[in-house]
Amino acid sequence: MKKLEQLYEGKAKKVFATDHANTVIIEYKDDATAFNGLKKGTISGKGVVNNKMSNHLFKLLEEKGIPTHYIEQLSDRETAVKRVEILPLEVIIRNRAAGSFSKRMGVAEGTPLHCVILEYSYKDDELGDPFINSYYVRALQLASDQEMEKVKEYAFRINEILSAYFLNLGVELIDFKLEFGRFQGEIVLADEISPDTCRLWDVKTGKKLDKDRFRQDLGQVEEAYQEMVKRLLG
Ligand code: UDP
Repeated sequence: MKKLEQLYEGKAKKVFATDHANTVIIEYKDDATAFNGLKKGTISGKGVVNNKMSNHLFKLLEEKGIPTHYIEQLSDRETAVKRVEILPLEVIIRNRAAGSFSKRMGVAEGTPLHCVILEYSYKDDELGDPFINSYYVRALQLASDQEMEKVKEYAFRINEILSAYFLNLGVELIDFKLEFGRFQGEIVLADEISPDTCRLWDVKTGKKLDKDRFRQDLGQVEEAYQEMVKRLLG
């Protein structure tokens, strides 16, 4: 497969066209942003960790029946994926209170929740990814009702699969963000699953092994990313 022109550069990844019309190549960068781009920095080696970790988890999810954009890893930082049309939604699952939920609701970080929460944000940097609900999705035709049924079904199933998988590695999955796309009429999981997009706490010590170390200047940022990839891939 030939890597052709760059189609897009995001905050953490670049996307390139290929000589296959339905395939693009993602290249993961070490750039890190937080608070809607207000805080910028570099996490050395992050791109490699996120590429490997995301691919590992996407393969696991495929085996468990979740359709994903994953095709094949090409190098430490590059992966071939299906060229999908991304739904303009961030799909967030919460198992414990943290982050924007804690702030918005005045609930202390780490508080257990009586049920799993699924929520949506509208993917729009200029608007700061505002919180929306399923009526906004329908009213603005961001996705069809049928597509949203799949999104919900997959998101909860992914939470069950990943929570169990991480727990086995001594890590609690606190919350995470998913993005889905359309590919040949079907909904598939896209984007990435990594310490950039999940909150991951060590079960024994409670140590944060995710991007909150960068967001909150907790130190040992690179180490946390390396620790996660080590637990997953040995
Ligand atoms: N998240 C993400 N990208 C975003 C917003 C959130 O990957 O643009 C992830 C975040 O890492 C966390 C989960 O989604 O694991 C829930 O994030 P939250 O809504 O609490 O927002 P944050 O605290 O990141 O502002």
